Formats: sequence, C-alpha cells, structure tokens
Amino acid sequence: MILHIDMDAFFASIEQAINPRLKGKPLIVGSRANKMRTVVCAASYEAKRLGIDSGMPSAEAFRICPHLEFVPADQSKYIWTSREILKLLEPYGLQLNYASIDEFQLDIRETREPLKLAADIRKKIEENFRITASVGIAKNWLLAKLASKLNKPDGVAMLTESNLAETLANVAAEKLCGVGQSTTQTLQSLGVLTCLDLYRKSASFLSQNLGKFGLNLFVSLHAEDSFSDLEQDANPKSVGHSYTLPWPTKTPGFIRGWLRLLSEMVAERLRQQELTAKVVHLGLGGPEIGHFSAQKTFSQASNDGYEIYLRAAKIMAKIGQNMPKIRFLGVTCSNLSSPEYAPLFKEQEKRERLLKTVDRINHRFGDRAIFPAIICQTRRSGQVPVSDTL
Ligand SMILES: [Mg+2]
Repeated sequence: MILHIDMDAFFASIEQAINPRLKGKPLIVGSRANKMRTVVCAASYEAKRLGIDSGMPSAEAFRICPHLEFVPADQSKYIWTSREILKLLEPYGLQLNYASIDEFQLDIRETREPLKLAADIRKKIEENFRITASVGIAKNWLLAKLASKLNKPDGVAMLTESNLAETLANVAAEKLCGVGQSTTQTLQSLGVLTCLDLYRKSASFLSQNLGKFGLNLFVSLHAEDSFSDLEQDANPKSVGHSYTLPWPTKTPGFIRGWLRLLSEMVAERLRQQELTAKVVHLGLGGPEIGHFSAQKTFSQASNDGYEIYLRAAKIMAKIGQNMPKIRFLGVTCSNLSSPEYAPLFKEQEKRERLLKTVDRINHRFGDRAIFPAIICQTRRSGQVPVSDTL
C-alpha cells in the first residue's frame, strides 16, 4: 500500500498562513512580480471556487475576480516548508518518496492502521505549518495519487478492494495522473469515460489504442508493488530519477542544472551497483510540449554523471533552438551491464579515481557534500536550490 500526501493549494496556503490578512480571500501566487503579466502558479481555494486555477494567465484571473489578492512567488518559503514536511515524515521510519515539492509518498505495506497514520500526519502538518494536506491510500502510487484528490481539500480517501469499483466509477478518466487532453479524447471515442472503464480494460486493449503509454498505464493501475520494490530490485533493468519543478521554466541554465543533477543521481546509483549503461532516456514535460520522451543508445557504456548529462543534453537538443517551458524532467539509464574491463586510458583511469573519491566523500559527509559547480548555478539563479531538494 502507498500513502500519498498532496498539500492543498500549497504555495497559496503558505502565503495565507504567513499573512493572516490573506486568509479566506481569493488569492493567486504569480511566478513573476508583475501581477498583470504573469501566470497563476497557485490559487487559493477561495480563488479556485471562482474558476481560477494554476496555469491561467493572471490577467484572465483578474478579469474573473478584480479584487483578487496577489503575491509574487517566493520559492525559498515553499522549499523550506517542503523540506520541513519531509523532516516531519522521516521519523515514521517508512520508505519515503519525495514526488514533488508538495507531494510525498510513504510505503505503508507494514502499517496496520493506515487511516490512523493519515490522521496523525495531517494533524502534525496542520499544527506545525497551519496548512492542510489531503491523503490518498491505495495499492499503488497511481491510485493513491488519484485518491488524494477525491476529498480535497483537507480530506482522506482510501481505496480498498471493496470500494475500488464503486469509487472509480464516479471519477472521470482524465483525473488520472498522466491522462491528458488528447488521451482523454481517444478514450472517449472508445467509450472509456470513467476511471473504472479504464481500470477494466485489458493490457492489450490499452496498448493497441494508446501505445506504450497505454501499457504503462495498465501496469501502473494494477501494480501491487510499491515504489520501493523498484528501488530495491537487485537486478534493475533501468535506473532513473525524475523531478517535477514547482512551475514551468525555460531558463536554459536552470534546466541544464537540473539535468545534470538528475544525471549525477542516476550515475551514483549505477556506480553503487557497479553497473554501466549504454542507453540514456530523457523525459520532459511541460504545458507547451506535453510529454516528450526519447532515448538513444551509445556505443560506450558509462556511469559517469557528466557523460550521462552530455548524452541527455544531446537528446534534448532534438527539441531545437526554442526551448519550451519545462515542468517535468526525468533521466533514465538502461541496457545495464557490469563494466567489462578496467579503464584503457590514463585519462579514464584518472576520471574513475575522481568519481570514486567523490562517492567516498559524499558517503562520509552526506549527500551532495561535494557536487559539480553547474548544479550550484541553479541556486544562484534564484531558482530551487538543488541541495534543498534531496
Ligand atoms: Mg498539491
């Protein structure tokens, strides 16, 4: 079982908790300070009730509600809160997945009373930060994430064998994470309207009609293994890391910094397991490009973060000169094998010694005690400081 925690209107709620004057008012948080020329990156529930939501141009939000309160986003506050919530969850001693800045997942297969745990976590979050979270509990992450939306805000939903069908029958298929506009249209044309319709379709039906995405959807919907099974797999077929940014960005230095960080994280795990990879897969998502994913096989296997980064960047270059806004980034390596031979060249040998030393330093002094300078640039650009996200 997975317990998925999703903060309610996270950025807006934090602003309201800090400034009581904003409490109970329709409020938007904008990604830029110019309130008429930005995009809503969070809306309070009071604003949501009027039909305002993230992704909407702020000018449109003000047309809907001229007396809307506006606050420019301050990432440091949100990141601080997110980290503190993470710290609050750690003592439960459960496998923990940091899914995004306002989403956390716990592996609760050993937990006897999940609802009690959910209540305890929600109470602690509210007491500590004066903001609320919604919780979903289900047999896998996809259904748990869906469940967390069912009783929002400040609610809990648990999907069990006995209520699963009844619950899914009342939820539109498009509510499921990953099911976007075009998928919804395809599904509708096939008569698949609710999550239950989707749940009852076979793997072959979904892969025939939606391709690889359909197959993944089937697997994710029916999986009974949680995220930690993937982590603990002794013989992984692939190693990957992904991250959802607080909001879409097209700042090249920032995107590259993130790409490098994810590449370094993947490389570190490959080295831990004494594996190298030939295939690099890049996944990008954003409001303008939807979901972009591509992979490339390289002749030399690698477990060097810089090399994996260069390869991922090469794949990203396919998008062309005009970088679209990116919200989601993922780097995955596959076609894994153990290194076949010792380094052939002096330079390679030197590089391997360097990486081993970096791993030893990080092992001894904690994650990211030492890291490539490019990752630091994301901090200087005023965006998410990378060390804060690990
Ligand atoms: Mg949320």
